Amino acid sequence: MAHDTPEFAKRRVTKQVNVGGVLIGGGAPISVQSMTTTKTADVEGTLAQIYALHGAGADIVRCTCNELAAAEGLAQIVPRSPVPIIADVHFHIEMALAALEAGVACLRLNPGNLRKPQEIKLVAQEARDRKVPIRIGVNAGSLHPDLYKKYGKATPEALVESAKMELAYFAEVGFDDVKISVKASNVPLMIAAYRLLSEEVDYPLHLGVTEAGPPPAGIIKATAGIASLLTQGIGDTIRYSLTADPVEEARSGRQLLEALGLRERKSLDLIACPSCGRAEVDVIGVASAAQKALEALNLPIQVAVMGCVVNGPGEAREADIGIAAGKSKGHLFIKGKVVRVVPESEMVSALVAEAERLVEEGVEARLAAADQNAEMEAEADRQALLGDKGIDANHAEEKIAAIRRRVT
Ligand code: SF4
Repeated sequence: MAHDTPEFAKRRVTKQVNVGGVLIGGGAPISVQSMTTTKTADVEGTLAQIYALHGAGADIVRCTCNELAAAEGLAQIVPRSPVPIIADVHFHIEMALAALEAGVACLRLNPGNLRKPQEIKLVAQEARDRKVPIRIGVNAGSLHPDLYKKYGKATPEALVESAKMELAYFAEVGFDDVKISVKASNVPLMIAAYRLLSEEVDYPLHLGVTEAGPPPAGIIKATAGIASLLTQGIGDTIRYSLTADPVEEARSGRQLLEALGLRERKSLDLIACPSCGRAEVDVIGVASAAQKALEALNLPIQVAVMGCVVNGPGEAREADIGIAAGKSKGHLFIKGKVVRVVPESEMVSALVAEAERLVEEGVEARLAAADQNAEMEAEADRQALLGDKGIDANHAEEKIAAIRRRVT
């Protein structure tokens, strides 16, 4: 006999924030977040990881902004990232200002180590003017020293009070574009803190068990905390904090939401670049045509549609197969290696045909069948495009100059 899926507690009604186009709270689907482990200054390595995270189910990715080189990296990463980027800031207020210059979609501030009211208000003012939301990221492991003194240890009340102190500073400058987390590595403490917070404020909540550790124990701990709250209707965006490849974090988050019936299951996974100053084609048009054709086949693979051959195959090298636009040509690539160059008009049909063969024959066989001239032709196109638009097609240098003025 068929059963209707039983419903959990009604989701708590919250305000909504918009993180670079991903809505959080206010009835929006619960989103999955993860964080890169690369140095943010390593632009290419970080972008490849962001694409891998996106492919594994991350809707939003956070990168550390801990030094000048990281902020400068963000200026180059943001326009090329397929998902909105949040800058993670601790200790250094100028890193928050630099990240805003770099164009991030959101900031995460830790009230435990960014404590000067004047500085907090300065960042909030600037975020307000730029319409960039902030996550107040309270952490039991780095609680404000005054609150340690007051409560003797990290308690649910102490974590919630820390968030409310920050909210009060923000309110002084008329800023409330906020989401909040009160994470702890202790699951019962984390659950109690979020429950208390949800009774006191109506901002969207970012759930997580901090430093959950390596899988499988880390996944169990994180799931225990996050799932308990979600079934109580609490939580608007989630992150698994695992001591592992962050792809595991994104995958676990996605799978949890699917298991709870809070997000739809995916089989074909189509990712597309955001299309920046380098794009050579209408990425949205090609991506939707490819999606339509590939969805009918329901292939269990990850497919990337990339706007240019300068960076596309490298950025999406974790995808099984992809297509990147050259000068009126399409460059088909498998695991980042260009295997064939086709006329632009055949981009979608060639992609679909190759995807079918890839599923039938496997990656090794299709790499072995690669057109021997393809890589050379791709490199010539790459160079031609670099010549056309120069190295800095996204004007990241202007942002970097602004960042340097801020930080020095
Ligand atoms: S157009 Fe090229 S550089 Fe720009 S986001 Fe797409 S693949 Fe990356």
